[in-house]
Amino acid sequence: MAPVIRATPTDAAETRRAVTTTGLDPIVAREGATLMTDSTDTFDIVILGGGSGGYACALRAAQLGLSVALVEKDKLGGTCLHRGCVPTKALLHAAEVADSARESEKFGVKATLEGIDMAGVHTYKDGVVARLHKGLQGLVKAAKVTYVEGLGRVVARDTVEVDGRRLTGKNLVIATGSYAKSLPGLEIAGRIMTSEQALLLDEVPARVVVLGGGVIGSEFASVYRSFGAEVTIVEALPGSSRSRTRRSPRPSNAPSRSARSASRPA
Ligand SMILES: Cc1cc2nc3c(=O)[nH]c(=O)nc-3n(C[C@H](O)[C@H](O)[C@H](O)COP(=O)(O)OP(=O)(O)OC[C@H]3O[C@@H](n4cnc5c(N)ncnc54)[C@H](O)[C@@H]3O)c2cc1C
Repeated sequence: MAPVIRATPTDAAETRRAVTTTGLDPIVAREGATLMTDSTDTFDIVILGGGSGGYACALRAAQLGLSVALVEKDKLGGTCLHRGCVPTKALLHAAEVADSARESEKFGVKATLEGIDMAGVHTYKDGVVARLHKGLQGLVKAAKVTYVEGLGRVVARDTVEVDGRRLTGKNLVIATGSYAKSLPGLEIAGRIMTSEQALLLDEVPARVVVLGGGVIGSEFASVYRSFGAEVTIVEALPGSSRSRTRRSPRPSNAPSRSARSASRPA
C-alpha cells in the first residue's frame, strides 16, 4: 500500500497566531491560573514563539531600540527553519541534482544517476538547517534579545510565565504558529504522515499519494517524483491546475534496484 502524505500543514481556523496587548491565553482564562514565581523581568516586548514571525518581530523591535524577550519551547527558527521552508528547499535541491544527472546529456555532460542515498540527502538537508540555525542564534544574540528557552504561558494580559520565571511586557506578541491538521478518521501514523514525518523519511517509497495539491503538496510530489517514486496528487479543488489527479510513470533511469527494493512498501 502506498504511503499517504497529508501535505496541507495548516488550517486558518487553527492558526494560533495573534498580536495582542489585551487578550489572555484561553487556557489561562479557563483555568484561572495562579502561579508560583520566583522572578520577574520587564521588557518593552515579550514574544511567545521563536519562529519566523516571532524572531523577525524580535530583531526588528531590538533594531528600533526596544528591550525584547523571546520565548521558545523548541528550536529558534520554528517551523520554517526546522520543519518547513528550509528543509523542503534542501530536498528540492537534491531532487534537482538527480534530475540534472538524468538529463545531463542535454547539456553535453556524461553522467548517470545510480540511485538516491536518503541518508546522504538528510545529511545535506540537516547541514543546511544547522548552518542557518547557528546564524540565526548569532543574530538574536547580537541584537541583545533576551532568549528564554521553555514552554511559555500567558498568565496575565502583559505577562508570560516560563518555568517559574515571569516576563512582563508593555506589549505581548503571541507568535506560536500552527500545526498540521489531519482529516476526520485519518490517524497520522505509519504510512500516513504529515509533511513533518515526510521530511524525515529515510527511504524513497515506490509509490506516494499526496493529499493536497497546494504548494507544499506539490513540492513533496516533485521531490519524490525526482527521486523515482510513482506519485499521485489528490486535490479537491476543481477547475484549476491544482485539481489534477495524476499518476506519473517511473523514469527509465529511476533509482537503482537496491534503492527501489529497499523502499518498496511491505
Ligand atoms: C513543509 C512546509 C514547507 C513550507 N514552505 C514554505 C515556503 O517555502 N515559504 C514560506 O513562506 N512558508 C513556507 N511554509 C510556512 C512557514 O513555515 C510558516 O508560515 C512559518 O513557519 C510561520 O511562522 P510562525 O512564526 O508564525 O510559526 P512557527 O514557525 O510555527 O513558529 C512558532 C514557534 O512557537 C513556538 N511555540 C509555540 N507555543 C509555544 C509556547 N507556549 N511557548 C514557547 N514557544 C512556543 C513553537 O515551538 C515554534 O517554534 C512551509 C511550511 C511547511 C510545514
